[in-house]
Amino acid sequence: MKVVILGGGIAGLCMGIYLHQHDIEVIVNERQIFSAVGGHAFLMHHDGITVLNELAIESKTPLPGKPVHTFILRDAEGLIQNEKTLEDWQCFKRTDLLACLNQFLPVSRLKNNRVFSHFVYEADQIVAAAFSNGEVEYGDVFIGADGANSIVRQQLFGEVKFEPGKVKEVVGIIQHAGLAESLQGRFTKFQQKDQGLSFGLIPTSATELVWFMQYDPLLADIPEAINIRNSEQYHEQLRQLCFNLLKDFPAEVQEVLGANDFRTSYIWNTRDFDLLPGFHYQNVVLIGDAAHVALPFTSAGTTNAMLDAKTLSHCLLNYPDLPGSFSAYYQLRAESIKAHVNLGRALRDSFLDPTSIGVIPLISNVLK
Ligand SMILES: Cc1cc2nc3c(=O)[nH]c(=O)nc-3n(C[C@H](O)[C@H](O)[C@H](O)COP(=O)(O)OP(=O)(O)OC[C@H]3O[C@@H](n4cnc5c(N)ncnc54)[C@H](O)[C@@H]3O)c2cc1C
Repeated sequence: MKVVILGGGIAGLCMGIYLHQHDIEVIVNERQIFSAVGGHAFLMHHDGITVLNELAIESKTPLPGKPVHTFILRDAEGLIQNEKTLEDWQCFKRTDLLACLNQFLPVSRLKNNRVFSHFVYEADQIVAAAFSNGEVEYGDVFIGADGANSIVRQQLFGEVKFEPGKVKEVVGIIQHAGLAESLQGRFTKFQQKDQGLSFGLIPTSATELVWFMQYDPLLADIPEAINIRNSEQYHEQLRQLCFNLLKDFPAEVQEVLGANDFRTSYIWNTRDFDLLPGFHYQNVVLIGDAAHVALPFTSAGTTNAMLDAKTLSHCLLNYPDLPGSFSAYYQLRAESIKAHVNLGRALRDSFLDPTSIGVIPLISNVLK
């Protein structure tokens, strides 16, 4: 069996490594090198960390990730509203995780600069993937791991109905040894009591922190007309938006904003879609954000992408035929995915509602 994976992000690389470890011929096709799509850094749950340890079993190089042992919820004045011990959560920089996963696959299994374009059919059966550079990869099984805007999904399943998340997020990363040291191991979130506005801070190393601002765009936003990434005007508007919305937040928040290079920050329009009725069509199957997207409040996207890879690998290796393994994969994953989509919406609603203070926006209660 030869497996062709379309998209070499977290889901695609994990899938490729699992199959390679089990001597299945696999090619991971990625449109770029170390894609920066999908956030500067993220929290990962124990289940994702377990997958990473399994993939790294033969590696001697230390794994990335900083343990996060405490979640502290403060109000906009900085007063502690809730504190919770976190078991087995880590913070990863996306580039570090991708670099690490890339190391676990032989170079011959990875093809960069390949933008998936369409499938090649013979007698109504999909036999190859074609790329925009004219190259073609033949295979027996094709895995769509090309993220939330998946072309594979669009071509085989049609357009999904994205639900607007009603919340936007700005993400940034700063160097600040003093703050990073004082916040080691802690995920701190400041949340306004009467409006949908919060600011989160997590150290990613001894000197670096990732921050995010979640906000209700009805409070304030960048005018649609200049909402074009990479323009100077956009970065300046983004800076002003953050400073204006967070002007009453504590001194460390102002300090983080002051240290941030807004040319590397952006606004993320959150969105999700209902669970698909299936994840496969003929010999093509979807994993990760290509298969499902939940709102960011769950902190579950990466862990779910990794669990998809583990589950699908297991099914492909243990079921005698493709339809059986694809159905088993869906059965094993669908319930948990649906719970995350619903949890994301519930957490979003409580974020937009002042009564949200005290809600811990992490996923541990629904991961399976
Ligand atoms: C701002 C932000 C913050 C986030 N925070 C968290 C968090 O705290 N915790 C968490 O768990 N998750 C978080 N997520 C979600 C998480 O990043 C995703 O769920 C996760 O990256 C999904 O992995 P994936 O491999 O399915 O998709 P992706 O990581 O999007 O990878 C898809 C890959 O496919 C490639 N690709 C796309 N189209 C093509 C094509 N046509 N041909 C070839 N290759 C293609 C892309 O370049 C990319 O490398 C966040 C996302 C964002 C945007």
